[in-house]
Amino acid sequence: MSDQIDKPAGEPSEQTEISFADFQQLIRKMYFDKDDARGVDGTFMWLIEEIGELASALREGTQEEQSEEFADVLAWLTTIANVVNVDLTEAVHRKYGSGCPGCGHLVCTCPDEGKP
Ligand SMILES: [Zn+2]
Repeated sequence: MSDQIDKPAGEPSEQTEISFADFQQLIRKMYFDKDDARGVDGTFMWLIEEIGELASALREGTQEEQSEEFADVLAWLTTIANVVNVDLTEAVHRKYGSGCPGCGHLVCTCPDEGKP
C-alpha cells in the first residue's frame, strides 16, 4: 500500500504498513507448522476463545485492550485460513470486491431484515 510494500514479510517496523496478503504470509511464517499439526478443529477452538475475549473487551475493556483482541481474532482467523489453504485476499476480493454480495452496491441497500 505504500513504499514499505517491498519489505520482506515478518519484519514489522514501528508503524508497519501491512497488506492483508503480507499479514497472511506473516501469520503463516509464525504459526503454520504449529497450527497445521494441531489441526483445524483445535485451532478453531482457539479462535472462538479469542472471540470470547473480544466480547469481554468490547463490554468492559479499554480501547487498547479492544485493539489487541481484534488483532488476536484476525490472527486466529487467518491462521485457520492458512491451514485449509484459503487465500484471504482472493476470498475477500471475490466476495466483497465489487460491493455488497446481497445487493451489489458499495453502500448496502439490502432490506434491514436481511443479514448484510
Ligand atoms: Zn446489500
